[in-house]
Amino acid sequence: MADPHRCPICAHLPDPASRPPLPFCSRRCAQIDLGRWLNEEYRIPATEDDPEDDPPA
Ligand SMILES: [Zn+2]
Repeated sequence: MADPHRCPICAHLPDPASRPPLPFCSRRCAQIDLGRWLNEEYRIPATEDDPEDDPPA
């Protein structure tokens, strides 16, 4: 079963001719993935105790 990996960003098949950075189809998608990664790192708070997290019924 020759099923080449797909780009996790855009789900396109990488173009082998352009020698993209695996597992992405292009440098651009690699950058996007990196950006997402960093974003999540920034967005994940250091588990603060937030009693007001639950909105009142
Ligand atoms: Zn892609």
